[in-house]
Amino acid sequence: MAAVRALLSGQFDANPEPEFARYLGHEHAYMVSSGKSALTILLESLHSLGQGRTVAIPAYTCYSVPAAIIRAGLEPVLIDVDPLTFQFEPASLAQAFGRPDLLAVVPTHLFGIPSDLSRLHAARSARRVYVIDDAAQALGVTSASGDRLGRACDAAIFSLGRGKHLNAGGGIIATSDPAIAERVAAAVNRLPAPTRERNWRSVLELAIVDLLVRPQVYWLPAGLPFLGIGETVYETDFSITGPSPVARATLTGWRERLERANGSRLEHTRYYMSELGAGVLGGRALPLLRFPFLLSSADERAAVLRESRRTGLGISAMYPTGIHRIPALRHRFQGQVFPGADRIAANMVTLPTHEYVTAADRRAVVTQLQGRHEASARASAPHSVAIS
Ligand SMILES: *Cc1c(COP(=O)(O)O)cnc(C)c1O
Repeated sequence: MAAVRALLSGQFDANPEPEFARYLGHEHAYMVSSGKSALTILLESLHSLGQGRTVAIPAYTCYSVPAAIIRAGLEPVLIDVDPLTFQFEPASLAQAFGRPDLLAVVPTHLFGIPSDLSRLHAARSARRVYVIDDAAQALGVTSASGDRLGRACDAAIFSLGRGKHLNAGGGIIATSDPAIAERVAAAVNRLPAPTRERNWRSVLELAIVDLLVRPQVYWLPAGLPFLGIGETVYETDFSITGPSPVARATLTGWRERLERANGSRLEHTRYYMSELGAGVLGGRALPLLRFPFLLSSADERAAVLRESRRTGLGISAMYPTGIHRIPALRHRFQGQVFPGADRIAANMVTLPTHEYVTAADRRAVVTQLQGRHEASARASAPHSVAIS
């Protein structure tokens, strides 16, 4: 593996941050141990600068997002998501912005689908509310105006974790705001280095993920449950350290690697759009991390997932529930409903777009879905039960 060779020879770019900053269109970029570490550090920095202690996030997103908020000593507020567009529900968004204690809003560009920030900026009140892009799933994806996602905001976080656009281990904070940069730089400078044990674990994980991402061996994760790949866990005691030398070594030549990988993602996305419909993308093809497809019922989805497990095609569900149903958090959202998030969690499957997907694989994926009903705008939401 190229990264291990680079690491052993000592010939790697030990300082990829300036190039990340340039690429992302920001003044500053900081690398840390993971995307959730990046978000935690960033939120702590904002908390020391701004006012308020709640952070608004989509009700359907990665479990690491609320985990980072809790870890930073802040409180998550949820905004429902339209299951057909993955955009914030306007009424739910307005309600979050009505809170006097709102410190920041963190939209997720889920799969790389741009979260429409124009509406967000319009909703911003006179009081300062930070807009933080969660671009963990959007490295190298552009908005309709041609900006890279993660640019039009106060600061953004990216993940270099497994299953993301660039798998190296680590996370990135990017910002052009001098006050945020100063706080983040100070926090990053205080971080401990990762332990030797963690470094070796990173090497192992990288090698395993590199192997497992191929659909031909997709049966392996099911047989090796201790790897925890594909599992969604909520945990707040993750380690927050500086980036590992392994991650830095793995990033040698990252731009070419990212461009090649995103080229395949774009091509696979185009194919799914032409065969299955444009879905949430509204006609503009993007290098999506996975291609979302909303089925009309949970039963229909169960059937698709069963069939995909049998054939090893790599069609999968995403996060099992909305944030409001995570057992450790649900007491915070008593009496609130998030029907959009519930419907995504129950009915959505996602299709693989990575570079090891072959033309035959994706044809088989499409064949499996073509007879199915995609949910339409007219389909009614499933009965939503309030959290109690
Ligand atoms: C993966 C991910 C994160 C966290 O990144 P890690 O590097 O796994 O800690 C945060 N937000 C979203 C949307 C993600 O997909």
